Amino acid sequence: MKNMYVDGSPREAARGNRTEIHDPANGDLLDSVPAADAADVEAAVAAAERAFPAWQGCVANERASLLHGVATRMREHQDALIEILTLEEGKPKVENEEEVEWSANTFDYYAELGRHEVGQVLPPGAPTQFNFTLKEPYGVVACITPWNYPIMLLAWKIAPALAAGNTCVVKPSELTPLSSIYLAEHCLSHLPPGVVNVVTGTGAEAGEPLVAHPSVSAIAFTGSLETGQRIASIAAPQMKKLHFELGGKDPMVIAEDAEPEKAARALAYSALLNCGQVCTSTERVYIPKARAAEFTEALVEHVRGLRLGHGLDAGTDLGPMIDARFRTRVEEQVDEARAKGAELLTGGRRPESPSGGAFYEPAVLRGVDHSMRIMREETFGPAIPLMEYESFDAAVELANDSPFGLGASLLSSDPGKIKRFFEGVRAGTIWINDPLTDNYAGPFGGMRLSGGSRELGQEGLDEFRTTKHVHWDFSTEPKDFWFPYD
Ligand code: NAD
Repeated sequence: MKNMYVDGSPREAARGNRTEIHDPANGDLLDSVPAADAADVEAAVAAAERAFPAWQGCVANERASLLHGVATRMREHQDALIEILTLEEGKPKVENEEEVEWSANTFDYYAELGRHEVGQVLPPGAPTQFNFTLKEPYGVVACITPWNYPIMLLAWKIAPALAAGNTCVVKPSELTPLSSIYLAEHCLSHLPPGVVNVVTGTGAEAGEPLVAHPSVSAIAFTGSLETGQRIASIAAPQMKKLHFELGGKDPMVIAEDAEPEKAARALAYSALLNCGQVCTSTERVYIPKARAAEFTEALVEHVRGLRLGHGLDAGTDLGPMIDARFRTRVEEQVDEARAKGAELLTGGRRPESPSGGAFYEPAVLRGVDHSMRIMREETFGPAIPLMEYESFDAAVELANDSPFGLGASLLSSDPGKIKRFFEGVRAGTIWINDPLTDNYAGPFGGMRLSGGSRELGQEGLDEFRTTKHVHWDFSTEPKDFWFPYD
């Protein structure tokens, strides 16, 4: 039985309720966590508020060493973290090894960046003046995370937020809270009490009171567009700082010069990593009409060879989807596309010997168009819809035909096409020949309905700092432009 982590100690829910957490691959009971409500949120925010002045005042070198300490502890506890992630989220163990390493590295990165500078000296307007900016923390930051990368997306928030001098109240997804609690108990417990607090519960019962709390100055949220819109509407009257990483509908364009077998592997990885449950999963694919048959054949052959299974089993390529509700959404989109004329080439069904988990054989479809939901709405599951294009310019236009703008990929070695693509496509990240790869120093985030915030890089730190301009004149002489006017 796990508890929340508030003010450096375990905490039960005020009303005593608990929620069970199950393995998505087979339904096994893993553990239970408190079902928090407003009273628990109140305690966590109060702890974060109390901890804020000392954490803000903590000298940069000491803060850096405490954050490096988080990374060190994560590596010491990596085996346990990897197992918890695999059990509660379902993706293959190898992907969770990467998630933990990425998360630890994020703490190391922001430990250093956080002690680099806290503002700038500006050119003065007169010789007697000194102008500078101070980058200051907001105060208490709410960090609300989804289930698909429970630790990594948390690290992308709390590492820069802490490095900037904020204190945090974390609300993990109700589907995957165990890794966040483990992280707090084993890797964050050397931080002063109250600097990071974790409350567990649903969005409605724990998330909303956190968003609405007047002492929470900033909200860092990763999740769906609909939840982002709801959070924005609650936070708007208080004009809180919002940091949003929302959904996507990422395109991949395969250029005519790409090699079919290599393209098939790049595309399958990009569309099916974590069973297609990545915000930047490739969800729309544009292939050149002239070589459509070759690309399609190579893809179908490769996808047919992928193995579904439990994330802890060696050789598993794809785990289960997190929950049957998400599988239903994929099934509905595939069915609707087929009803409108798309052809299902492989997969698109539940495996014959069900284990109780929401498994789904990855679907490859051709003959799709933009009238279909599968080409317009977020799918967030293992489906690869292929659409043919006549010219590269048409492919760029199709890539831009979406209200989202998170990421976009191109497979090509043609410099002219590459330049046309990275200049012409509206997305926060452009990947050429290496889809879905992140870089600590490279800002990650979206445009339009994907949210306009950035994580990672210098931008990811600045999201958690507010800028103050100090204009200081050493001279106390009255200015000749003050009243009275001549
Ligand atoms: P979700 O929006 O359902 O939930 C995300 C978090 O918000 C959870 O912790 C949930 O409890 C909380 N929440 C829900 N309602 C709330 C409310 N009214 N007030 C406050 N908190 C609330 O998303 P999900 O299903 O967990 O995650 C999948 C979504 O996340 C997809 O749309 C995906 O694209 C998106 N995502 C985006 C990124 C990115 O970086 N852009 C990364 C990963 C996932």
